[in-house]
Amino acid sequence: MKIADGEVELRVPRGYTSFMKSLETSQLKGFSRATVSSRIDEVKRLTGVDLSPASTGGLMQEAADRFVENAVGSFGMPLGIATNFIINGQEVLVPMAVEEPSVIAAACNAARMARFGGGFVAETDPSITAVQIEVLQPKSGAAAALKAAEARLLALANQAQPGLLQAGGGAVALKVRECVGSEDRMVVHLMVDCKDAMGANTVNTMAEAVSEDIVEIAGGRAGLRILSNLADERLVHVTVSIPFEGMKRGRFSGAEVSEGVVRAFEFAAADPYRAATHNKGIFNGIDAVLLATGNDWRAVEAGGHAYAAVKTGTYSPLSTWRIEGDTLRGTLEMPMAVGIVGGASVLHPIGKACIALMGIRAAGELACVVGAAGLAANLAALAALSSEGIQFGHMRLHARRKSS
Ligand code: NAD
Repeated sequence: MKIADGEVELRVPRGYTSFMKSLETSQLKGFSRATVSSRIDEVKRLTGVDLSPASTGGLMQEAADRFVENAVGSFGMPLGIATNFIINGQEVLVPMAVEEPSVIAAACNAARMARFGGGFVAETDPSITAVQIEVLQPKSGAAAALKAAEARLLALANQAQPGLLQAGGGAVALKVRECVGSEDRMVVHLMVDCKDAMGANTVNTMAEAVSEDIVEIAGGRAGLRILSNLADERLVHVTVSIPFEGMKRGRFSGAEVSEGVVRAFEFAAADPYRAATHNKGIFNGIDAVLLATGNDWRAVEAGGHAYAAVKTGTYSPLSTWRIEGDTLRGTLEMPMAVGIVGGASVLHPIGKACIALMGIRAAGELACVVGAAGLAANLAALAALSSEGIQFGHMRLHARRKSS
C-alpha cells in the first residue's frame, strides 16, 4: 500500500548484499550435542565474540533499573545460535532468544534445507519511516500550501536531528492525506530515512519540531504526533529456492513435502484463521532474532500484521510458496524497522554482542537476517505440517525439557 502519490527521494541504494564477517561455514558439526560452555567457546573461536555474559542474562540489577521504571530485576530468556544459514551467499550464525522449544532447531533445519538451493537471498528498502502529524480542521487549500512549503519543513525537521543528518539520513519528503476518517482530519506524513536506527524516538522528535509550523500553514490545530509502525516503505524482501532433493523428509519425497507446503500456503491465503497461525510461525523466527539483537519486536509485529491486512485488503500470509519445475520457491515481504544504533541494540550488552557476532554494519543487513530467519521458521513449520505433523518434533523437544 502506498499512502500517497509522489516519489520519496531515495538516498540509500536498495539492497545490502554483503556481511562483514562471512564464516567459512555455519554448519557446525556436533554443535547441538555439545555442552553450553563448548558452544560459547566455538562461537568465540569463529566470530571473536564472547557470549559468556549471556549465561546470566547479561543485565545486572542496576542496568535493568536504567532500562525501565520500577525495576526489580531482569527476566531471563534462553539464547541459542541457529546454524546452517547462508544469507546472500554469506555463512552466518544467527542468534535467537526465545523460550519456545523447537524454534531454534526448526530454523537450523530449514536453513539446512535452504542450502540445497544456495540459501536465502534478501534485500531491504532504505530505512524510510513515516511519522504522522494529525491536523484537525485544516483550512481549504492546506494540502497544496504544505506541499509548497515542503523544502522548508524538511529542513526544519532535520535541524532537530543533526546526528541523523550527519549519518546520511534525514527527512526526505512530506505526504499529505486529506479527510482521513472524517472531513476535518488531515494527516501529514513526514518521511524520514532513519539509516541505521529503528528511528521511533528520532522521528517523533522531528514531528514535534515541525508540527507548529505545519499548523501555521495548514490552519486548524495539531492532534497526535507519532510514528506509524506500518513501515510499508521499509520492507525486507527474502526469497529461497529449494530443489525437491532438499525437501525430502523421512518417508516423504521432496515433491510431496513441497506440494504440501504450497497447499498449506493456499489454505492460509484463503482463510484468515489459518493465516494468523501461518504468520505466527514466521514471527517465531523474526521475534527471536529481534529479541537477541535488542530490537523492538512489538514494533515489527505491529507493522507485520498491519501489512498482512492492508496489502491484499484482508488478513493474509506474509510469505508465499509455489513450485517451479522441481524447485520449491518461497518469498517473504514485510516491514522491517530495525536498528543497530539507538535503543537496546546498543544499551543491552547481549544485544550488542549478537549484532557483533554476525559482523553486521548496517540496519539493512540486520533486516535481511531477521527476514531470512522468519522465512526459515515458516518453511520448517509448513514442511513438518505437510509430512509427519508438527507435534512429532515439538513434543520430543518438550519431553527433553521435562526430563531434565
Ligand atoms: P534513539 O532515540 O537512540 O535515536 C538514535 C540516535 O542515533 C539518533 O539520535 C541518531 O542521530 C543517532 N545516530 C547515530 N548514527 C546513526 C546512524 N548511522 N543512523 C541513524 N541514526 C544514527 O533510538 P531510535 O532508533 O530513534 O528509537 C528506538 C527506540 O524507540 C526503541 O527503543 C523503541 O522501542 C522506541 N519507541 C518505539 C515506538 C513505536 O514503535 N511505536 C514509539 C516510541 C519509542
